[in-house]
Amino acid sequence: MIFYITSLGLIPFLASRALIPIFATALTARFAPGHGDLLTEYTGIELVSGLPGYLTGDHALIILGLGALVELVITKSPDMRLALQTSESGIRALTGFFLCFNLVEGDFMELVDIVLREGPTTSYVWGNSFAYTWSFCIGWAVFFTARLRGAIYATLTDMDEDDDLGVQGLMSWMEDSFGFFGAIMVFLMPLVTLIVAGMTLLGLYLFKKYLDYREERQKVPCAHCGHPNHRCAAACPNCQRHHDRVMQVGFLGIIKDQPVTDFAAHRFSMQATKRCYSCGERLRKKQVNQNCPVCGAQPFYSQRELDEYLKRVQEKLPQTLAICAAFSLIPIFGLIPGIIYYRTNLLSSMRAYIPVASGCMTRWAVRLVNLLLLGLQWVPLLGTLVLPMMCLVNYMVYRSVFSRVARSGLPLDAPGSAPVTSGV
Ligand SMILES: [Zn+2]
Ligand SMILES: [Zn+2]
Repeated sequence: MIFYITSLGLIPFLASRALIPIFATALTARFAPGHGDLLTEYTGIELVSGLPGYLTGDHALIILGLGALVELVITKSPDMRLALQTSESGIRALTGFFLCFNLVEGDFMELVDIVLREGPTTSYVWGNSFAYTWSFCIGWAVFFTARLRGAIYATLTDMDEDDDLGVQGLMSWMEDSFGFFGAIMVFLMPLVTLIVAGMTLLGLYLFKKYLDYREERQKVPCAHCGHPNHRCAAACPNCQRHHDRVMQVGFLGIIKDQPVTDFAAHRFSMQATKRCYSCGERLRKKQVNQNCPVCGAQPFYSQRELDEYLKRVQEKLPQTLAICAAFSLIPIFGLIPGIIYYRTNLLSSMRAYIPVASGCMTRWAVRLVNLLLLGLQWVPLLGTLVLPMMCLVNYMVYRSVFSRVARSGLPLDAPGSAPVTSGV
């Protein structure tokens, strides 16, 4: 009985991290009191005492600890989170199954052996015992929970791709401690944790529903065909007719209540916040050459358009520098809002189109320069120039990377040309 409660309680922790909960479980197994102890009798600790030696030995603990540390570090980078997004649900489902299978003292090596011999369709595990089959179900439950979690992150990423506001970073830290302490709590207080876990899942589900609802609620029916349209869309993706009334977009691509008067400026703010200019959908990929998932339009069609785009980004530079200088006058406390300001206002419009791989080296170089400049923050007078200097250096670097990737990734110089099969 305790196994079923405990494994159910483990689902949300396994869905948020792969190695950290396993490390916490192995630690619990290693340092928990043995059989006969009162603590063991009434908690789930009895369960972990059955874990095989290759999970709880010294070497295993060191390796798992290092793995957990690597997991902690890579989930701190928005680039890495983006790169992992596609595979993580599967990985977590597998580790979830692995852990539960070991908890019922299933012989994992034997299972691997049989699967290798008879293929993944083997009936061995299904028929063997209900507890084994249960482990599979937990694996699936972890998979779907991880998918739900991924969908929420995807929505947050759409709004703030490089995490300039730091919300995703904060959530990432919360999830680390959640994955570690939660997994330990499951064994100490199975029933309490199960209830908390159930409520967390329900909360996640409702939050996701709310995000979907908010995006849908903001749509309005097309005047010609009734198809739901984003209010910032220039044309309906269903009947292709142009709208008379188009709404402006502002910070993070959030739709405002003011109608557009200057369509060239509107086009720029749609591109800069990574929405499709035609239908208003959020563009998913981090590259210049891509097609809108709904209507197929491209954000940029020609070199001239790109030059126009960069010109408009540059027009924002003097104002951004001036505001950075103002933030700089507030020692230390002005720094964080200043950085968030120039990143969301100026850099994100270029960073959003730089592929994860090609931006990586540059990002680290820029971080280094930022650190060096931050060191100057303590020097009187010079300190007040730090923010504008950081802003300027970052701007120049990202502008040059953007131009490079844009040039190599742009289709032929013909407006309205068909999608191009470029592999950049
Ligand atoms: Zn329509
Ligand atoms: Zn579109």
